[in-house]
Amino acid sequence: MLTIRCHFHPRYRAHREPKNDCETCRLLYALAHQQDGNTEEILRRLGSGLAGTTGDDKMSVALEGMETGRASTLTVKCSHHQYQATRKPGWNCDACWLLFVLKFQAHKDGERRLGPFNPYAYVIGHVNLKAACAALLIVR
Ligand SMILES: [Zn+2]
Ligand SMILES: [Zn+2]
Repeated sequence: MLTIRCHFHPRYRAHREPKNDCETCRLLYALAHQQDGNTEEILRRLGSGLAGTTGDDKMSVALEGMETGRASTLTVKCSHHQYQATRKPGWNCDACWLLFVLKFQAHKDGERRLGPFNPYAYVIGHVNLKAACAALLIVR
């Protein structure tokens, strides 16, 4: 199980809407409540800059704040695959590739795994990050 949390607010559990203006917390909340309805609507309600047809740069900044493999009550997975992100996915699934980057972006082995550049542009740059997020499942 791949745990997930906000790097800046590691104790935020996404039960309630975040009171701060942290886009990573907002995205975490929206992803954790994705199954309840429209993620876009949630982001808009939170006043997030990620709502609407935002570019991938904003999404990648919010995603960079995500931390996996640390103490958290939240876990993240691909809704289509049983994938633990131990190595690069050998198939073409945007959500799995996103999980791979999430796992290794702040990892001591990260540069070797992902390269020295922004992995959201470099490893999965051709992907619409918001669409990739739609297939992520956050469970507690
Ligand atoms: Zn946060
Ligand atoms: Zn997948």
